[in-house]
Amino acid sequence: MIKNAQELKLLLSSPKKIVITTHKGPDGDAIGSSLGLLHLLKQLGHEVQIITPNEYAKFLHWLPGNNTVINYNGNEIIANKITSQAEIIFLLDFSHLSRIATYADAIKNSNATKVMIDHHQDPDMDIADIIFSDISACSTAQMVFEVIEAMDMSNYLNKVIAECLYVGIMTDTGSFKYASTTAKTHHVIAELINAGAENAKIHDLIYDNSSATRIQLLGYCLNEKLRLYPENNAAIISLTDEELKRFEFKKGDTEGFVNYALAIEGIKFAIFIAEKDGIVKLSLRSKGDFKVNQIANKYFSGGGHMNASGGMSELSVNDTIIKVEKIIIKYKSELTKIN
Ligand code: 5GP
Ligand code: MN
Repeated sequence: MIKNAQELKLLLSSPKKIVITTHKGPDGDAIGSSLGLLHLLKQLGHEVQIITPNEYAKFLHWLPGNNTVINYNGNEIIANKITSQAEIIFLLDFSHLSRIATYADAIKNSNATKVMIDHHQDPDMDIADIIFSDISACSTAQMVFEVIEAMDMSNYLNKVIAECLYVGIMTDTGSFKYASTTAKTHHVIAELINAGAENAKIHDLIYDNSSATRIQLLGYCLNEKLRLYPENNAAIISLTDEELKRFEFKKGDTEGFVNYALAIEGIKFAIFIAEKDGIVKLSLRSKGDFKVNQIANKYFSGGGHMNASGGMSELSVNDTIIKVEKIIIKYKSELTKIN
């Protein structure tokens, strides 16, 4: 960390053209860490552009600097131009180029110095020149804080940086409840509040700001779409395109739904399946040492963390449910061993 931080500090010692990118379907950690870093780099005098592979949830749009973000989807020409001119490219919250979809080629073709800051397993060490990888870190946002600290730049922390990083840490720790939340995490959060982050306001803007139809969709999922497999300690929630349309689905509306299935007593493996724009996506969550990233990788061309992963399916929603049911049966002995 220290050697990398010194190398990065040297790289940042003169004004540079910088691009920050993050994984497709950016979540709170992806956007929070990217914007937090952007506000630091701007203070240092750099020209900085965040480019996301695609769109992200509206509940993140209030974050300071959001209106400067370029979505690669639909802005390919300008995004490719900026990327080809960049001298430094930060890769945040992902560690394989497959995670940035169609933007990957532009990154591959760029001569910029690439800097990865990420907490996912098995990083591809060939995609960046300077790599900050910590698979035990709760979030990339916490790592960005640690990198700022290691570069002796904590004096640049201000309210906007603090609020962005707070969002990243809060969302990736399930509001500080996952096992990845450590004493260090709480120390970092204390520093962010000291720097001006309004914690209660942030929780409200992220979690208590839903459309009525989103809450109604949640009610529908829990009442009518929850399949329980108590002998296997598993639960599935699924939604089709038609059902999402019925509840006026907007990007981000189903975020967190999978956790309700996992909140049921005895459930150790929760699967949320949703068909969005013709693509069937899965969110997998577990308790204990049941490694859903291995399931995501083996069966759904995906990955993620041990207890929180995602992937996709080429089958219909119904056939995906059947495939998941087979997996639940196959892993019954592991699932029933977890305390
Ligand atoms: P979510 O279920 O919230 O979409 O994603 C949970 C976790 O799984 C995140 O850490 C995310 O990085 C990872 N993840 C989600 N979808 C994919 C995917 O398609 N491929 C890989 N490798 N990881 C994914
Ligand atoms: Mn993350």
